Amino acid sequence: MNLNQNQNKPHAYSLLAPGPVNLHPEVLKILALPMIHHRTPEFDQILRRCLGNLKKIFQTEQSVFTLSSTGSGGMECLLVNTLQQGDKVLALVSGKFGERWADMAEVFGAEVDRMNIPWGEAVDLSLLETQLRTKKYDAVLSQACETSTGVAHPIQKMSELIQKIGSHQTLFLVDAITALGAYSLPMDAWNIDGLVAGSQKAFMLPTGLSFVSFSEKAWKKIESNKTPRFYFDIRKEKQANERGETYFSSSVSHVRALDWVLSHILEQGLESLFETIRKRAEFARHFVQKLGLKIYSQTPSNSLTAILLPSEIDGQILRTQLEKEYQVTVMGGQDQLKGKILRIGHMGYILDEEMIRFFLSLQTLLHARGFQSPLLTKEEMLSWLKKQI
Ligand SMILES: *Cc1c(COP(=O)(O)O)cnc(C)c1O
Repeated sequence: MNLNQNQNKPHAYSLLAPGPVNLHPEVLKILALPMIHHRTPEFDQILRRCLGNLKKIFQTEQSVFTLSSTGSGGMECLLVNTLQQGDKVLALVSGKFGERWADMAEVFGAEVDRMNIPWGEAVDLSLLETQLRTKKYDAVLSQACETSTGVAHPIQKMSELIQKIGSHQTLFLVDAITALGAYSLPMDAWNIDGLVAGSQKAFMLPTGLSFVSFSEKAWKKIESNKTPRFYFDIRKEKQANERGETYFSSSVSHVRALDWVLSHILEQGLESLFETIRKRAEFARHFVQKLGLKIYSQTPSNSLTAILLPSEIDGQILRTQLEKEYQVTVMGGQDQLKGKILRIGHMGYILDEEMIRFFLSLQTLLHARGFQSPLLTKEEMLSWLKKQI
């Protein structure tokens, strides 16, 4: 059973959002299995296998934890375990998710400096360097991929700067919810101190699980950290995991589906998953430009493509029409980007047929609005896909 192999029958409905994503038919079957209790040898075995396999996706020797929460819960878990009141935090804010994490750190009493990055752009390394020289921080927060703009940040280089210039206690916390599993983000090799991922993005599962891991350096802080925490107390979760259990009830259905996904990703090789996603991203970037449109992000992530629409076209109406008339869901823009962009995801179970359908539908809708562009054909798209092995 291939994770991404195209079958002849296309989905009637395509969820091409940058999360949640289309589910594999096998995952749908697993989600429908009869319930078992989470404190059973049968489930313990599944959980242990998942926790072991997650380490390979995180590319870490550290423990990885599974939380029954959406990605934002995982983001909160990183903060409450590693930060305390009055800690100095540098939040790199390049879109909606960066804002959310900075707000969260403030709620927990951190002293947050926001480095605002123009939307659509990546973190400027020289500005980051200057800021790190100006002040000593307890933590630096960043998205790996800012999903609201489709930007991928240079995490490895940012981490090197933090290592070089930050104080020896500065923790680098990374929200990789639309990055981990979509492209390589080796936690240990890149010295990331806290990393969070989410089930409904590259993990191809329904929303509802988040995954977190901490470096040795972060663990030192966790042990002495006075911040009150209960549900997200990672020390308790660690003890429970050592017994083959989760601290609270496990999301049995999600974890069973996770087990299937992880085993298949690793069987085919992590690189093969990255390649599949990269190819979809290149397909999208190629045909967006062929259609005479621009890519919004200056350093586009492979996880999703943000398409800049011509100014006379209302993206909100276009998005609704794609959904209603063509059964394709993509996302629009938020805040300052409302109506201006469309965001198409490249993670999850996506058939070639679905990407083609999206572009043909988009083209029809643009032409109906008088937008002149070279005509894309299905044959052209199929032949592009065939050429790229
Ligand atoms: C999806 C996403 C989240 C998490 O959102 P939830 O709705 O809480 O799962 C956080 N950060 C980024 C970058 C995301 O793409």
